[in-house]
Amino acid sequence: MTIDKFIEELKKINIELTEDQLNKFKKYADFLLEYNKTTNLTAIRDIEGVYLKHFYDSLLVLDNNIIDFSEVESLIDIGTGAGFPGVVIKIMFPNIKVTLLDSNNKKTTFLKELISVLGLDNVTIINDRAENYVKEHRQKYDISIARAVSELRVISELCLPLTKINGYFIALKGNYVPEIKAASNTIKKLDSEIVSIKEKMLPIEKSYRSLIFVKVNKKIDEIYPRRYEQIIKKELK
Ligand code: SAM
Repeated sequence: MTIDKFIEELKKINIELTEDQLNKFKKYADFLLEYNKTTNLTAIRDIEGVYLKHFYDSLLVLDNNIIDFSEVESLIDIGTGAGFPGVVIKIMFPNIKVTLLDSNNKKTTFLKELISVLGLDNVTIINDRAENYVKEHRQKYDISIARAVSELRVISELCLPLTKINGYFIALKGNYVPEIKAASNTIKKLDSEIVSIKEKMLPIEKSYRSLIFVKVNKKIDEIYPRRYEQIIKKELK
């Protein structure tokens, strides 16, 4: 997707970018592609792919009638990788205190450099596993979000305990349908509910995307998340 097409497609979903935001996206793409030559961060190796499959794809989450991101104070991106969607959201909403968490040291080292290149403040980068980090940060974030990290029931058990009461966990997925039944059981056990599922389509390659919005209704029992091996092995029923 060319930059002109990126701007045009975003307008269709009511997203207008400022000069400053456009400059930041360009710097982000250039830095990512350069870094990726020596350290493997993403399989996408061309600038048009970065604009379509990372930037535009991450921005789809803003096209919803549930969350007004200008009102959000804190957000954690679990398994953020090279910053998707957390850094993209931060570029659009500098008001949000963003935490980027990934267990892969290569990714968090890149993110530290990226944040400095983009001149972003109020960004915390954590090199840890989500199931470990949650122990000291229970129900602390307005929004938890994850794109392409693991099966929906697994990522729900990791993210919901990080989310405030009345806050939201948002999962960015491809096809959610095969995972929804097991995830619904987990979500119910963790006193939360799916309030909306938005189906989207990526322009040009016309592939399906889905956004699953899960609201946390109560204090979540501290037995969750279980140990990672336990989560993987046994579905909650
Ligand atoms: N969200 C990014 C994106 O959409 O491009 C990265 C997706 S990548 C496929 C999954 C990332 O999640 C990896 O960087 C991996 O290290 C991280 N990850 C997986 N399980 C994790 C866990 N339990 N705690 C922290 N990070 C995790």
